[in-house]
Amino acid sequence: MTRALFIIDVQNDFTEGGALAVEGGAAVASGITSLLEQHPDAYGFVYASRDWHEGHTDNGGHFALDAEPDYRTTWPVHCVAGTVGAEYHPELSTDAITHHIRKGEGIPAYSIFEGVTENGETVGALLAEHGVTDIDVVGLATDHCVRASTLDAIEHGQHVRILTDLIAGVAEETSTAALAELAHAGAVLATSESVS
Ligand SMILES: [Zn+2]
Repeated sequence: MTRALFIIDVQNDFTEGGALAVEGGAAVASGITSLLEQHPDAYGFVYASRDWHEGHTDNGGHFALDAEPDYRTTWPVHCVAGTVGAEYHPELSTDAITHHIRKGEGIPAYSIFEGVTENGETVGALLAEHGVTDIDVVGLATDHCVRASTLDAIEHGQHVRILTDLIAGVAEETSTAALAELAHAGAVLATSESVS
């Protein structure tokens, strides 16, 4: 068994003070750092995604430029490539990250599987190459990119656990619904206490 960790979109724009702040986002960043410090051997690979949008387009309708965002499919401008908002939160230690994934250049992209490494590798290809069978998922936001990434991981045949103390969502109602949907799809809802 080879277990990997997905760290989804723990970026300045998705944490307190950012363009699209998720309440509890900074605590998720520091919590993930503690997890990796306490369990340095728990994961064979650590894949971290960043939303990474163009600054000169609406990224396929993802940015609400001329209207109010609906916070479902249209959003305030966020995570523009090369800006501070697109960087990892400073409390997330990046030392353990083995693969950095960028997604959303010119398009909406919620799942880590839609992104690529700087060498153009997809997560699906990397999981196969690395022999990964099990994935723990942490990060932001529960009701959007954590949800989409988890569904894709299950689709790729992975055994998936969501560490529910290390995620945070945009809205409570949709986050609760997302976790129910993911559990129904086969994800195990666990906490970081289960990591060893
Ligand atoms: Zn985005």
